[in-house]
Amino acid sequence: MGWTDPRCLFLVPMLALSLSLAAQAGTAPAPAPPAATPKASTPTAPALRPGEGLAIAGPDLEVHAYGAAAQEQPMGDLAQIVWLRLEGEEWAARDVQFKCTGTMGAFHCLLPKGHGRLNLKKAIQESCQLAFLGWILDSAQYWRHEYGEGAARARLVDVFAPFLGRRLKAGENLPEFGLEWVGAGDLLRSSPEALLKWLLDPAQSELLYRCRRLMLDFLTETYQTEAWWIKTGTAPVPGEAGATSAWALGSNDAYTVVLHLPKGTGKTEALARFQAIMAIPVKAKKK
Ligand SMILES: [Zn+2]
Repeated sequence: MGWTDPRCLFLVPMLALSLSLAAQAGTAPAPAPPAATPKASTPTAPALRPGEGLAIAGPDLEVHAYGAAAQEQPMGDLAQIVWLRLEGEEWAARDVQFKCTGTMGAFHCLLPKGHGRLNLKKAIQESCQLAFLGWILDSAQYWRHEYGEGAARARLVDVFAPFLGRRLKAGENLPEFGLEWVGAGDLLRSSPEALLKWLLDPAQSELLYRCRRLMLDFLTETYQTEAWWIKTGTAPVPGEAGATSAWALGSNDAYTVVLHLPKGTGKTEALARFQAIMAIPVKAKKK
């Protein structure tokens, strides 16, 4: 049974939903009925909880949106994916390194004790905002030299425009980069549906491949062509200090999925919900 079979993708969550509904109602789960074979063109809607938003695209690249998929949210750690689009190739080529001690000047990492030594792969997997900010500040210096302020700003805005709305302060120069560019605040916003459409745009053609290489270990990446990679992240909730919502973005090459969980969730829930909704078997050795 292949996990890329569209029937698996939508049928398994549907069965999970009927079982969980039966459990909630306090009735004994009925014996599973013989599995119907839904037409691939009319997928069953996945079982979402209130406030969740999900966007899925399969091999035909058509985006299916469910729940709160159109609702715009602060991007949180998924902003790092947009940086991979702009500078990922450069950073991978330079094999950038960073030592996260938990603070960098006035900036604090979400992990107070710090992430330790990171390369690009570890930074994207562990969502170290300080590492990204450090590399961005380095790159910004280089762009000023290489392109000049105006062209550097245009290059930045060209990639980030869909996520900035009208929130970038007017000006001719590069903005001052802070944590709001890598996961904090609500400067960068998107919805599951909008982010998925952006990812599937031919302008981003290399990006999912780049994410796959960074998110999977070498053996999995090389030999398990249908392996899922899932990037999770938290995002702040505007106006509520300390509150978070959570994102999960993943792909197994055939399917690409963006999930947003409502207020009161974190990375662990985002991973678990993504795996449950997409019926991905959970590996025993997951940290
Ligand atoms: Zn860190």
